Formats: sequence, structure tokens, C-alpha cells
Amino acid sequence: LNERVPVNDTNDELAQLGKLFNDLMDDLEQSFLQQKQFVEDASHELRTPLTIIKGHLTMLNRWGKHDPDVLNKSLQSSLKEVERLNQLVQELLELSRAESEAPNMTEWEMVDARSVMDSVIRNFESAYADYTFRQMRSEPAYIRIVARHLEQIFVILLDNAVKYSQESKKEIHVSLYQEDDVAKIEIKDFGIGIPQADLPYVFHRFYRVDKARSRKQGGNGLGLSIAKRLVEKYGGTISIESKEGQGTTVTVTFPIMK
Ligand code: ADP
Repeated sequence: LNERVPVNDTNDELAQLGKLFNDLMDDLEQSFLQQKQFVEDASHELRTPLTIIKGHLTMLNRWGKHDPDVLNKSLQSSLKEVERLNQLVQELLELSRAESEAPNMTEWEMVDARSVMDSVIRNFESAYADYTFRQMRSEPAYIRIVARHLEQIFVILLDNAVKYSQESKKEIHVSLYQEDDVAKIEIKDFGIGIPQADLPYVFHRFYRVDKARSRKQGGNGLGLSIAKRLVEKYGGTISIESKEGQGTTVTVTFPIMK
């Protein structure tokens, strides 16, 4: 991978071919390093729940057989960690798919983003009865997409909005409208917000502003990176604005179908 062809600056066909080869090798090396980093990061994340489970099993093995209190606590905690592992593996798979799978355009369909949004919001309303989900704007907007992916994007963003406003105003504003040639989706919460210094990194995989808090709420730092990769697969954009202590707005755009 470190091999490169010496290229002189004659700019003839041979030099161009050499340059092309070198660029390809650069890309290959880059993607190889990214893969390596991904495996390292993923292993690191998987190790945390595994270590906790091992700790509980060790306790169970030593004292749990005779102490129902230890037995109960350790079993409950182990189960929770197994669930977490399960979710982590699921998200890793989703991320890997979103990253590597070439878009299969035969699966794309014309989807009315409004009906997807409505159904996801209804689900959230019944799951989080103490929150208000306000649809500020709701216009029909047709996008060519795999409906399941659009649903996944809504779920990730609403899930974050809920998670990070648990101790603040439990109100979430959702908008869908057309502007110029794009369909715009905005999800706004009034929760804890994100410090400016962290904002550039929240779309990086495994990045969490407050690792302990996020972990407690079941976060693995993968949601936004999955959302970003899904959105970009369809030629869309995703951006985030936030003020610490005031709230966060995530904006997604998709090219509109006329
Ligand atoms: P997680 O599963 O940890 O929520 P995400 O990739 O979805 O991971 O988000 C990355 C980090 O960005 C989160 O850990 C959190 O610190 C921050 N974040 C994302 N959305 C919000 C939000 N709506 N309000 C406050 N912080 C957020």
C-alpha cells in the first residue's frame, strides 16, 4: 500500500497514468486506515458491556449462589448490559450497511415524507406521553427514497430530541416543508443543547458529548453518524445548530421530486 510510482512532470500519457495510479493508492490506503480505525473503535465499545457482564458473572459465581440479593442484582444488571450489547451490534450493522452498500436504486420509491413523519410522530406520542410533539409545518413532500430509511432518520432524530430534553421542557417541534428545490425537515428541542466546541464532532461515529450521561440513556454515539450516511446516500444534507442549555435543531434536506 505504500508503493507509489515516480511521476515526472512531462504530463504525457504515461505520467497521467502514473498519477492516476498514485491517487488510487492514496484512496485505497485512506479507506484501509478508516476500516482499521472502525474495527478498533467498535472493539473498544464492545468491550465496555462485556467487562461489566464479566464482573457480574464473577460476583454471581462467588456469592450469588447463596445470596439472593447479589443473585438478583447481578442478573438484572447483566441482562441490561446484554440488551445494550444487542443494540450496539444492531447499530454497528446499520452503520456498516449505510456506509458500504451502494444505493440500490431499484428499491427507491416515491415516498410522501409527510405520511412517514405522521406515523413516526404518532408512535412517539404513544411511547412518550409526557412529551408534546408539535407539527409546526406539515406540507406534502415527495422524496425518492427507501421508506424504511426515511423512517429510521426520523426515529434517530426524535429519539435524540427526547433523550436530551428529559430534564427540560418536554416539547419537540417538527417541521416539513418545501423550499426552493428541496424538502426540508427540522426537528427542534429545548433540551440540554450541545457546547459549540463539540458541535463539529457529533456526526463522527462513537462521539458523545457526555459519555456517562449518554450511556445512561442508552446512547452509543452512532445515531447521528447513521443518519448522516443515510441522508447523504440520497443526495441530501444534514446539519445541526445548538445552544447549550437552550436546545438543538437538526435540519435535513432532500432533493425534491417534481
Ligand atoms: P447517542 O446515541 O449517544 O445519542 P448520536 O450519534 O445520536 O449518539 O449523538 C452524538 C452525541 O451528540 C450525543 O451523545 C449527544 O451528546 C449529542 N446530541 C445529539 N443530539 C442531541 C440533542 N438533540 N440535544 C443534545 N445533544 C445531542
